[in-house]
Amino acid sequence: MFVAKLLINDETVDASDASSFECLDPATGDVATIASAASISDVARAANAAAAAFPAWSELGPGERRAMLNRAADILLARSADFVAAMIGETGATALWARINCNLAADILREAASMTTQITGEIIPSGIAGNVSMAVRQPAGVCLGIAPWNAPIILGARAIAMPLACGNTVVLKASELCPKTHCLIGDVMREAGFPPGVVNVVTNAPKDAATVVEALIAHPAVRRINFTGSTRVGRIIAETSARHLKRCLLELGGKAPFIVLADADIDEAVRAAAFGAFMNQGQICMSTERIILLEEIADEFVEKFKEKARTLVAGNPLDGNTPLGTMISAEAVRRIRALVDDAQQKGAVVVCGGHANGMLVDATIVDHVTPAMRLYREESFGPLAAIIRVDSVDEAVTIANDNEYGLSSAVFGRDINQALAVAKRIETGICHINEATVSDEPQMPFGGVKSSGYGRFGGKAAIDEFTELRWITLASGTRKYPI
Ligand code: NAD
Repeated sequence: MFVAKLLINDETVDASDASSFECLDPATGDVATIASAASISDVARAANAAAAAFPAWSELGPGERRAMLNRAADILLARSADFVAAMIGETGATALWARINCNLAADILREAASMTTQITGEIIPSGIAGNVSMAVRQPAGVCLGIAPWNAPIILGARAIAMPLACGNTVVLKASELCPKTHCLIGDVMREAGFPPGVVNVVTNAPKDAATVVEALIAHPAVRRINFTGSTRVGRIIAETSARHLKRCLLELGGKAPFIVLADADIDEAVRAAAFGAFMNQGQICMSTERIILLEEIADEFVEKFKEKARTLVAGNPLDGNTPLGTMISAEAVRRIRALVDDAQQKGAVVVCGGHANGMLVDATIVDHVTPAMRLYREESFGPLAAIIRVDSVDEAVTIANDNEYGLSSAVFGRDINQALAVAKRIETGICHINEATVSDEPQMPFGGVKSSGYGRFGGKAAIDEFTELRWITLASGTRKYPI
């Protein structure tokens, strides 16, 4: 069993009232972790520690920040086995997905390290003779990062890497479903030599989420909020941030469309669709949820997709012999079952999968999905691919856009001009031509539109998210003022 404590001002501590909560292993139902349940006074201590560390950290040169972030990447990789064990135990992910998490998280830290020398400003010609006017980027202050459980190492690292690179100090609010995995990120940063208070990690009991998050957003030292999670909670974060007039970056849910045009390489499209729909049991914000097929290739695609999906069975990740692990919770299994039942009752055809065995759900394909079915619209966040057949390219685009979400998407077609024209018409932040909807590289502008949120993580785009752009003037001579 794991133990997860708060990291405040370089010390791992219990909650001040010594309360804790249990996080269960979804595969076995056993207690995976006992974690500290922070109170409002604990989160205030974390934000105060970050505020106290800010002046010195924000003044530190880029070379030192870069060295620490690079060191953190090395330590994270060296401690991969700890991360993999915690992630399997807390979330039911496979070891493969946990290792992918470690590698991409290390890349995110390295990319952030390289950005420390890229936070530039500009000289803007002033209309006033003798004036030199500068647009200067300065660290914003304490940044709050809130990360979910589904890709916890990637998204935990993402929540703090660029804020730190930009000279901010951080409080990472861990997910209640993977407190140990998120606390390990704090351990890594500590070992990498970040000064006391620069990185703080708080864990909270599920019942306290709303009050703890509200207290953190309201804390006067907290200047920026980044949140990765559901659209439902994202709205709460946006409303709370607005009330306190604080800027937030929101990475929310998705319902990625995957369009297969008539001239597509079907075998390649099937491989990409299977990876995109079923990796991590479909519990990725970019998961392929809607496969939109031109009628002339639909039968061939579905036949080949079924063959592939039948190999994607779920099992206890500790046994290590299945491509899929367990679902995160019984509630998630119920949600998937309800979506399949509703679709079936309204005339859809379950091509394969569809059953649940405890917390295990094999890859499931549902064909002939229509707008009347919940599965057409709602994020399933499970190993569930909905097939929608269309008669024209225009209809494919209309259906791709007939959804509140807009995070990732994909188009498959050999005529690149046509595929690019389709990609440009899809209302998502991300679109890949001839590649899976699930893809992430730390230097790319990652983010969504519509109910998938706003703001961008990744590379240069993130500099704007985590710095304040200021106008500073150097005047010379004597000015004439009107009064
Ligand atoms: P969630 O929204 O349920 O939980 C996320 C966080 O919100 C948790 O830390 C929790 O403490 C907090 N929270 C819960 N209730 C709250 C409240 N009332 N007030 C304030 N905070 C509250 O999300 P989840 O289930 O952990 O993650 C799954 C969701 O995240 C999916 O919808 C998925 O698509 C999305 N996601 C998006 C991205 C992206 O980059 N766009 C990446 C991964 C996951």
